Amino acid sequence: MICPFCNAENKDSAFYCIVCGKPLTPSGYDVNQYASKLKKMNVVLLIILVILTLGIYYPIWFIRQREGINNLLSDDKIDSGLFIIIAIVTALSLLAGVYSGIVEAKGDWGYAGAINVLFNLIDWVIKIVLIIEVFKVRKILDTHFNTYLGKNERFSVIFTLFFGIFYLQFCLNSTVIIQWRGNNTTFLFPLSQ
Ligand SMILES: [Zn+2]
Repeated sequence: MICPFCNAENKDSAFYCIVCGKPLTPSGYDVNQYASKLKKMNVVLLIILVILTLGIYYPIWFIRQREGINNLLSDDKIDSGLFIIIAIVTALSLLAGVYSGIVEAKGDWGYAGAINVLFNLIDWVIKIVLIIEVFKVRKILDTHFNTYLGKNERFSVIFTLFFGIFYLQFCLNSTVIIQWRGNNTTFLFPLSQ
C-alpha cells in the first residue's frame, strides 16, 4: 500500500505510515461497514443488567462488543481472554463474599477477615484493569472517528472515568449507530427508532 501523504511503501495491514506516521486505511477495509458489528443497547437496560448480575455483566459487555470495537480503524485492539478471566474472578469474588459471611457467622473472625482482605484486593485490581480497558476503547473510538474519519466527535475523559462502559455504550448509540441506522442489524435491546 502506498501512503497517500508521502508515497512511502507500507504493508497492506499497516494502520500508520512507517515514514510519516499518518493514518492509513488498511486495504480491503470497507469504511461503510465499519460499525456493522457494534451492538446498540439501551444504556438503562445495560445498567440494570450490570446490577442484576452483581457486576459480572460489566466484563461481558467488552466480550459482546469486542468484534465491533476491533473492527474499527485503530492498531489498539481488545482481547476477550482478559474479560473472560475478569468475569470468572468477579463471580468467584462474589462467592467468596458469601463464604466469608458464613465463616463469620460461625465466629471465625480471623479467617473471614483474611478472605475479605484478599478479595477486596482482587476487586481493586479488577477495577483498575477495567478502567484501563475502558480508556483503551475510548482511544479506539477517538482514533477511528477523529484520526481516520476526520470527524469531530468528543469522547469525554471525565465521563469515561466515572461512567465507564455506560458512557461508552452511550457513545456507540449516539455517534456510531446513527451512521448505520437502517442497515439490517439485530440488537439485543432495540431502542425505538
Ligand atoms: Zn506516509
